[in-house]
Amino acid sequence: MTIDQYILTCVYVLAGVLGLCVGSFLNVVIYRLPNGMNLAKPDSHCTTCDYVLKWYDNIPVLSYIILGGKCRSCKQPISPRYMLVEIFNCLMWLLSVYMFWETSIVYAVLSAIVSSILVCIFFIDLEHMIILDRFQIMLAVAGIVAMFFDPYTEWYDHILGSIIFGGSFLIIYFLVLGILKKEGLGFGDVKLAFASGLFLGWQKMLPMILIGTVSASIVLMIVKAVRRDEAGHEYPFGPFLSVGILVSMYVGAPIIDWYLSLF
Ligand SMILES: [Zn+2]
Repeated sequence: MTIDQYILTCVYVLAGVLGLCVGSFLNVVIYRLPNGMNLAKPDSHCTTCDYVLKWYDNIPVLSYIILGGKCRSCKQPISPRYMLVEIFNCLMWLLSVYMFWETSIVYAVLSAIVSSILVCIFFIDLEHMIILDRFQIMLAVAGIVAMFFDPYTEWYDHILGSIIFGGSFLIIYFLVLGILKKEGLGFGDVKLAFASGLFLGWQKMLPMILIGTVSASIVLMIVKAVRRDEAGHEYPFGPFLSVGILVSMYVGAPIIDWYLSLF
């Protein structure tokens, strides 16, 4: 094993373990932030019986499996979402190393952080229909860093992305508001378009919008059919945009290159 391979192996192990631990923290963020609770206090506890989790109840994934998905004290089932978030975040952090580490270490770290921000946006918007401003700001800051370290784009591509897509969303927002006299698009989605445009750059926004709108159409069609919803029921758009941003961040560049190679 060469020294380079040895270092890369260490990076993978570190990214995997850190990804799991951060995933565990994201669960706390997803549950507490939208409810206006403090992130540090009180200690993690069962939401049914208030049993305070010991350190050995708090080991990512392992504790969930050992406890059989139930609270140690009251045996109430714990949502599998906790374990899914940990595993998913871990996989995204490994993917960041795999995709970007050898081209740009900064961008690899940045993409790992952004994937975690997107996990929070996804679950909080899904449950509470809100995209918190602090995540928009974090994404915008990531966008400023990406201007200089994104291996695929130039710095001005990111500014263009923000103006074009944020601007389009803003126009659509006011058009719908003016014509239908109601919010078709949440203002949080408009802010998300500005922030993610800055992060991805205009090229990668194209597959992002496509993935976001197509997946939203398909999923909502199925959900409405299954639930037999009457018109007027509102659904969040943020989770679909988050999936679009995530996919485009990792494979947007190869998708564009493949598409352009067809001509
Ligand atoms: Zn309990």
